[in-house]
Amino acid sequence: MEDIYFTTITSLRDRIRRGDIKAREVIEKYLGRAQKLNQRLNAFISLNQEGALAQADKIDQMVASGKDPGPLAGVPMAIKDMLCTRGLKTTAASRILYNYVPPYSATVVERLEAAGAITLGKANQDEFAMGSSSENSFFGVVKNPWDENYVPGGSSGGTAAAVAAGMSVAGIGTDTGGSIRQPAHFCGVVGVKPTYGRVSRYGIIAFASSLDQAGPMTRTIKDSAEMMEVICGWDKMDATTAKVQVPKWSTQLSSNLKGIKIGLPKEYYSSAFAPDTQKVIDQALAVVREAGAQIVEVSIPLTEFGVPIYYLVAASEASSNLARYDGVRFGHRADFSKKPAEDLAEFYSRSRGEGFGTEVKRRIMLGTYALSSGYYDAYYRKACQVRRLLRDQFKKVFTECDALLTPVASTPAFKIGERIADPLQMYMNDIYTTSTNLVGIPGLSVPGGMSSEGLPIGVQITAAHFCEEKMLNVGFAIEQALGIWKKVPNGL
Ligand code: GLN
Repeated sequence: MEDIYFTTITSLRDRIRRGDIKAREVIEKYLGRAQKLNQRLNAFISLNQEGALAQADKIDQMVASGKDPGPLAGVPMAIKDMLCTRGLKTTAASRILYNYVPPYSATVVERLEAAGAITLGKANQDEFAMGSSSENSFFGVVKNPWDENYVPGGSSGGTAAAVAAGMSVAGIGTDTGGSIRQPAHFCGVVGVKPTYGRVSRYGIIAFASSLDQAGPMTRTIKDSAEMMEVICGWDKMDATTAKVQVPKWSTQLSSNLKGIKIGLPKEYYSSAFAPDTQKVIDQALAVVREAGAQIVEVSIPLTEFGVPIYYLVAASEASSNLARYDGVRFGHRADFSKKPAEDLAEFYSRSRGEGFGTEVKRRIMLGTYALSSGYYDAYYRKACQVRRLLRDQFKKVFTECDALLTPVASTPAFKIGERIADPLQMYMNDIYTTSTNLVGIPGLSVPGGMSSEGLPIGVQITAAHFCEEKMLNVGFAIEQALGIWKKVPNGL
């Protein structure tokens, strides 16, 4: 039998739709493998044992009775624990939500399931998606399947690790400042952050509402396109979703880049990358040239402000969004049985003090400070103003080229523990990814090569608002020419 673990969405769903293999068999095998490998990798916070099998049986019944089981029929999905799943624990990897069972599902999950996909489990991540290494989880650190001494990236590290290790065929991440693309890069999978407004945020636990966007994490570009066709589109439950048509990306992919101009922002290339990263970028450039693209140098002078603006805007929005976790209605509440709270402030502060981890507290304090009277103009407002200027610079750049090609981060995965004590160094890891979210444009990471230590290295492609098609084609050209996506971690 063809390997069912390191397979693609398209291949697996075709086999299930044809009746060559039963969805139940696929899901039973995946649940077993996920459970076993989770002891090593900690990629899932919880598995949807019964629910997944019930969904699988439904697919098998549809196939048996000749009904259309949908474009993602029987495909197991790792859903980041930021997305609400009805009846299934949703924690945001935080103690404050350790026992939260939502009464409804995120629109993304609803749409995936309606298309036949199966929610295999809830993927581990950084707490409230704050982090770049998946070390900030109440449920423990996630390991990189290529080398368990290394981080899988973050914050969607659990989804990335699950896909890379063949514990799931695909998954959903969220990306506020790089959290889909960077773990995709570290784990050797494809990760796509669609244009802001493409995907409904309804039912996704809010981190920074003007930046958050969910997207696919898969083995191939085509698989990501298949998922985007299902999850993208206007949603009456999210007023920030755009009323724009959703193209059939998966049927239009082309690795012929004739007529495409690819920009290299000189500010991104002004500092040195790790030598292996440089090699991968050079090779990707050779590939796109060979495919017919023209390379042009462009300039985004405000690039150096991407990280500072991001950390002000994201923390400010987070401090507002996270104010709802007060230990009153749901989630963790401190034990007041021995020492009752003197007043409401103490009630909140004890529950929140226990419920939130260090990084989340740091963001809440930073954001509260940036929004407080006397500092609002100097920090939050200023950041919003510079964000607007950055957007204008990107707009201009996309009149000069169709897509940008850059690294995702300047190095491959780093070691567990290596950066966790130095938040600034951790934040600087986001230098090439945060502007994408600040501006709202789409971005992806596609596997482009391996480091000398055997760790994957991704290439980032971004494009203008709602121009995913061009971005996907550039990624597709790299994927098809290099075939790195076929590599599998040793011993898994
Ligand atoms: N690493 C960034 C942060 O810590 C981005 C996180 C994300 O995209 N969710 O905020």
